[in-house]
Amino acid sequence: MSDRLVLLGSKGGPALRPGGPWPSSSLLEIAGRAIVVDCGLGVTRGLVDAGIDLKALDLIFITHLHSDHVLELGPLMHTAWTAGLATPVAVFGPPGTGHYWRRFCQAMEFDIEIRIADEGRPDIRELVSVEEFGEGQVVQQNGLKVTALRVDHPPVTDCFALRFEHGSKSVVFSADTVFFPPLVDVAAGADILVHEAMLERGIDRLVARTGNGARLKEHLLASHSFAGDAGRIASDAGVKRLVLNHLIPADDPEINEPDWIAAVRKTWAGDLTIARDGLVVELA
Ligand SMILES: [Zn+2]
Ligand SMILES: [Zn+2]
Repeated sequence: MSDRLVLLGSKGGPALRPGGPWPSSSLLEIAGRAIVVDCGLGVTRGLVDAGIDLKALDLIFITHLHSDHVLELGPLMHTAWTAGLATPVAVFGPPGTGHYWRRFCQAMEFDIEIRIADEGRPDIRELVSVEEFGEGQVVQQNGLKVTALRVDHPPVTDCFALRFEHGSKSVVFSADTVFFPPLVDVAAGADILVHEAMLERGIDRLVARTGNGARLKEHLLASHSFAGDAGRIASDAGVKRLVLNHLIPADDPEINEPDWIAAVRKTWAGDLTIARDGLVVELA
């Protein structure tokens, strides 16, 4: 299995529109491990379409508890379980992830109990472990090292950028954040930086469409980065490739790939990928 990043869901925010992309989730295949980063709506379908056997899942990371990053965590685990999952899965998430998981299992208690009794399945509550993390080293096992950096995504305080390293390979996810210069150190020299991005021109059009105008715009400007900001982080960190992801807006027919490229080229001259659902980026 060659190492690769698959962008399963590339839009920012939880809304779905006809023909549009899905909320945040990614697959990182590195050193034979299938690692899921964020579980927005669509993650299960995305993983299956990417050729992943759900029974083989073993590591899941959640950057923060906004619904566009965590809504489908429970359904993903449950679907993997009904697909035959029989080996442990470790979920790493910010404080509150355990609460989400316990309540999900309570909500699904009827189905879980009946499948254990009727189909002889192992208890999903024992197969899945949830570990809540803060800033610093999250995982170090079999050569895989994962570190977290708290980013600036108000009003959410527990939102973490993640750096994955194995051997000489490294991939960094910014998570959701306003322009945040401390990311430069965490992303330094990475093969791939997956950074969230908004496009200025699209924000006003988006706000007009969505309804709760002024408040939404205030949130976006305080909590998210423009494409040019992502380019600055990538340039200062000297990464090998920048992937613009968690795109806002992601489904405006008047905003296309050339608009994103033009916006980021002011600050980033290196290799560039604009995320689309299902897009594969090889980790050379
Ligand atoms: Zn988000
Ligand atoms: Zn968020």
